[in-house]
Amino acid sequence: MKNVNLSEVKEKVKQAVQEANFIIDQDLKDLVKECVPTEESPAGQEVLRQILQNADIAASEKLALCQDTGLAVFFVELGEKVKLTYAGFESLHDAISQGTREGYGEGYLRKSVCDPLSRKNSGDNTPVFIHWDVVAGDAFKVTFMAKGGGAENMSALKMMPPSAGAKGIEDFVVETVSKAGPNPCPPTVVGVGIGGNFDTSALLAKKALLRKPVGSPHPDPVYAEMEQRILERINKLGIGPMGLGGRTTSLAVHIASHPCHIASFPVAVNINCHSHRIVEINL
Ligand code: SF4
Repeated sequence: MKNVNLSEVKEKVKQAVQEANFIIDQDLKDLVKECVPTEESPAGQEVLRQILQNADIAASEKLALCQDTGLAVFFVELGEKVKLTYAGFESLHDAISQGTREGYGEGYLRKSVCDPLSRKNSGDNTPVFIHWDVVAGDAFKVTFMAKGGGAENMSALKMMPPSAGAKGIEDFVVETVSKAGPNPCPPTVVGVGIGGNFDTSALLAKKALLRKPVGSPHPDPVYAEMEQRILERINKLGIGPMGLGGRTTSLAVHIASHPCHIASFPVAVNINCHSHRIVEINL
């Protein structure tokens, strides 16, 4: 049995939301760097250089990588053998929310949560969005993703006929990225959820974005080859960095899959921008 104190969770969440918004992972920076010499568009090349320069300034001066500091999305893996010590919090959800409030407040990060109809801002970037997985053993892992609206808005889901096959998936993903154009602030990372049902395919697409290092291939060679084929087609669309033309439209395609109903074939796409902000907390 492992003990996890919720006041420690709150502190780690507070640090994680700031770290994610100030520091881009080295693996993503490396991918952008690799694309500079191969980008044929001068404007596109300049954008890639500015993305790297922006990342350096944000990290050294503790400034947000982007004005859109995102919805606070969490993925929690809670082991069955973990005992929570509440330490003044009502729940784990409460501790994560409080860490988010403090992190966004003290880091001067924009608060982006509002009521869908009145558009009134909640003022502290809550409610947070938490996806829960209860797992065997004593694992306790919280993954934070700051999800910007521009990229999230370009998501798509299609309930395809099972006969659509691999080509149907690839055409749908490429079409979705093509329609998105410059809106998700390319170069992007494209998450693809294949299978499950209507709701889980969307979650699979978002979870696919969590893979580290970014751009590493799917462990199944069938999906790894599909990722590569889709990436090559996307980078022939000519959208380029920030939509200014060129070949660097996406840095990586990540697929996650799950079995589905014999009559169904859901496919979902969730795009992340170059501000690919993900931080893991393990306790
Ligand atoms: S899509 Fe990403 S880079 Fe573009 S404005 Fe939103 S958070 Fe910023």
